[in-house]
Amino acid sequence: MKLYIAGGCGEHGRNCFHVTGNNIDFLVDCGLMAAEQDRYPRLLSQKISRIQMVFLTHSHADHAGALPWLYENGFCGEVIASKHTLEQLPFKPKKAITLENICASGQEGVCHNLNIKWGKSGHCLGSVWYRFGTEGKTIFFSGDYMENSPVYRVDRIRGQQADLAVLDCTYGKSTTTYEKACEELLTTVERLLQKHGTVVLPVPKYGRGLDLLFSFLDSGLKTRYYGDAHFLAQLWNMQFSSSWYHMDGKTLFEAVHPYSKGRNGIVFVSDPQLRGTSAFKTAVETIKGGGVGIMTGTVEKGTSSATLIEMGKMFFCRYPVHLNYTQYENLSQENQFAITIPYHSAEVRCDKSIIEI
Ligand SMILES: [Zn+2]
Ligand SMILES: [Zn+2]
Repeated sequence: MKLYIAGGCGEHGRNCFHVTGNNIDFLVDCGLMAAEQDRYPRLLSQKISRIQMVFLTHSHADHAGALPWLYENGFCGEVIASKHTLEQLPFKPKKAITLENICASGQEGVCHNLNIKWGKSGHCLGSVWYRFGTEGKTIFFSGDYMENSPVYRVDRIRGQQADLAVLDCTYGKSTTTYEKACEELLTTVERLLQKHGTVVLPVPKYGRGLDLLFSFLDSGLKTRYYGDAHFLAQLWNMQFSSSWYHMDGKTLFEAVHPYSKGRNGIVFVSDPQLRGTSAFKTAVETIKGGGVGIMTGTVEKGTSSATLIEMGKMFFCRYPVHLNYTQYENLSQENQFAITIPYHSAEVRCDKSIIEI
């Protein structure tokens, strides 16, 4: 079996891993780089037309955003992902297979000569890790992985065996623990709320927004909470996907009011880079009223979020939804992985682009 890294190692974005063997040819993720140039995975059309399957770890653009490009370049295979990931994609794959129809989490299933095992990765609704086996070899992908989420369930990666493992290492050399990062964020939010009255939090459509809300409520932070329609819908829908959450979401849903202009409190907008007009308008209204913003995840260059940070109207304070290098190493040691590859960080280099096992 051979792994070709088509993107995602030594860089942040366009995660794409090409696995080939005697009878198999598949991708794990097919993501976009946020930058303007060099956005797509390094894959040529001749190779793309032979790919049988694309397994998605989750729906974020750096993992699934290049799928339309893959189709344009001759892909005609199947897209396999959890039910929620498939539902969250902004486009409909031509041939899709729901992961839950192959096997339940933690069980072994088979698809096109490939033995598959998967588990929840704790990063967002529908996010998973994979272990694939074929021709007597095994390869493991953690996807974007987080064990500390108070909201999303995780099937902890422990005691897994693989000849090769590609593991989350997004935060690179940072040594900040989850607890420390949460503490810093809470202090920052409290301070900015006191000073400015309103804090706007741009969050991904699916991901850390729910974690943030839970953490604020859990800490006893006394303020009012507002959310856009998508944020409220996420909270309402928690009750229908109980196997993915630690809670039914009722308390969270009841704590949040629909956004209305001019009220003090915390405002969640489901658009991390403020690309859409509605989220941007909310942020501008908040700031004009004396409020500020806090970015809790990656700021993409050239976006409205980046501009507001440059203007000093928005601050950066990370909420962790990935691993750093120390946590990556710990994860390697808690499993039997013969070779491990760190991915998702520009700070951690990977010398090889092809690994044979
Ligand atoms: Zn992600
Ligand atoms: Zn990612």
